[in-house]
Amino acid sequence: MKIAILALQGAFAEHGQMLDALGAEHFEIRQKKDLERGFDGVILPGGESTVMGRLLRDMELCEPLRRKIADGMPVFGTCAGLILLAKSVEGGISCLGTMDIRVKRNAYGRQLGSFSTEQTFKGIGKIPMTFIRAPYIVEVSGSAEVLAETGGKIVAARQGRQLACAFHPELTKDVRVHQYFLDMVK
Ligand code: GLN
Repeated sequence: MKIAILALQGAFAEHGQMLDALGAEHFEIRQKKDLERGFDGVILPGGESTVMGRLLRDMELCEPLRRKIADGMPVFGTCAGLILLAKSVEGGISCLGTMDIRVKRNAYGRQLGSFSTEQTFKGIGKIPMTFIRAPYIVEVSGSAEVLAETGGKIVAARQGRQLACAFHPELTKDVRVHQYFLDMVK
């Protein structure tokens, strides 16, 4: 099993460390030709979704990536990565738009922009959650299902082989969300 990590911007290295801890092979997508390498799943990291979206479009990565995901390539988006996957974005523009979720960017305001909590993640149990200028999911539709909530807001969802978290599991020591994703890829 080989996982590709989008490495245009943001917190991509930390995902690599999580995959190392789980013994999963991975490489970084930095340009269009990297998409030609064989891989079984892809991670879209946190960072700045507007910048990442622009780079994806400028580098002509957007359409091929969208097609792969639409064709069933497992994908895991964290924070800005979640925003890239959303069909509808409040305070931003939809990029890949493959997931039936509506998200609100920078949803907690400036002061509450970064915080940590511990909540239940469906199928895993209680996990630590670190939020950094995070979005939340306003609503899920279609076949998308809610996996976690905090303070009455949806912060993780899954639709088929697409997984999205508003928080950053890669910034904790808990590898279980990454393991959950690898189980989706298998
Ligand atoms: N606020 C960022 C955005 O809107 C997301 C923050 C993050 O990925 N930590 O893209």
